[in-house]
Amino acid sequence: MTKPIQKKLSNPYCFLYRSLAIIKKGMNELKIGLTTITLFTFLIIGFLSNYILLLLGLFLALSTLIVLLIVKSKKGLDFMLFLILIVGIVFAFHSGLIIRNSFQKVCFISDLKNRTENKFNIKPIDLNQIEHDILQNADCFNLVTLTTIESGDSIVNLNILKSIDTCRNKPKILIIAGVHGSEPSGVYAIKEIIHKIKVENLLQFFNIQIIYALNPIGLAMYNRNNECNCDINRDYIQFKTMQSKLIKKLCYLNKYNYVLDLHEGPYNGHYFINNTSLKGLESRLTSKLKENNIIISPLLQNGIRNFLFKYQLDSPTTRLNKIMPLDNYLNSIGIENILSESNPLSNNMEHRILGHVITFDCLINSLNK
Ligand SMILES: [Zn+2]
Repeated sequence: MTKPIQKKLSNPYCFLYRSLAIIKKGMNELKIGLTTITLFTFLIIGFLSNYILLLLGLFLALSTLIVLLIVKSKKGLDFMLFLILIVGIVFAFHSGLIIRNSFQKVCFISDLKNRTENKFNIKPIDLNQIEHDILQNADCFNLVTLTTIESGDSIVNLNILKSIDTCRNKPKILIIAGVHGSEPSGVYAIKEIIHKIKVENLLQFFNIQIIYALNPIGLAMYNRNNECNCDINRDYIQFKTMQSKLIKKLCYLNKYNYVLDLHEGPYNGHYFINNTSLKGLESRLTSKLKENNIIISPLLQNGIRNFLFKYQLDSPTTRLNKIMPLDNYLNSIGIENILSESNPLSNNMEHRILGHVITFDCLINSLNK
């Protein structure tokens, strides 16, 4: 009885056949394993929006594709895995984004915290002082109070400066500063911008309106959010905040050609998003910033990183979570705009302010060309 088995095992062809069968089975498991790991990695990439992880994910996806193409097994299995890989990567990445965005909120239930003692040791804006400084040079503007905001014991005006001469044919520009209370450089930049407008007599050519402190209570408390603890710049779908409603109404009534929104981003460098069709604006702005020794954000030097950062708030998944920043809202209603984000990690407040002034200057120069 034992003789035939011994014969079978000692047969080298049979041994090879069996080994190949094991390797083949192993290869199928490797393909399924690689596909699963790639999909899981893209889920994490969507959640963390991490650049290094994205490079790893792309490498994994490529390796899986190569294995699927080179190591042929049953056609059905390969084709199915190929489909799962391609569709799954897109699906997994967006699922990660949905989970990430579900942590973002427009409004918080708790009261607004006073963060005047912050780790950056930045004093919150003295609104009365800055308003006084701004208005000193603003004699070519009308000061209009849009509304008043009550918070605790204080009542603050939310003002807009409007060009006195509002000839219809001039390009209409709205400048917004102080959306986030922990980003004061935009408000300080308004003083410089108004000085520039006056010295260069820009109101001859442009109709300019300026909201120099959209979020006065947040600015006074050095807190990102507004008096109701809501993030104004995430609220352009639900319009829960008085400020986003106001901007919507102003855009509807004034039909601006351009909006310039001044912020401070969490990057070591000046960042901007140009949503205008103005030719040469981006390259002019980049070289002007460099000329003035202002560090450019690393995001702007790296296309993939920039894509990841922007896509978090640009993708359709963000709309599912009812989150939308102003630039995307303006894009949706056809108003060209620039987002200027100065470097909050720089100790040099003058540089932070200058970044915004240069952005304004480049917008004006691009319009004059
Ligand atoms: Zn901001």
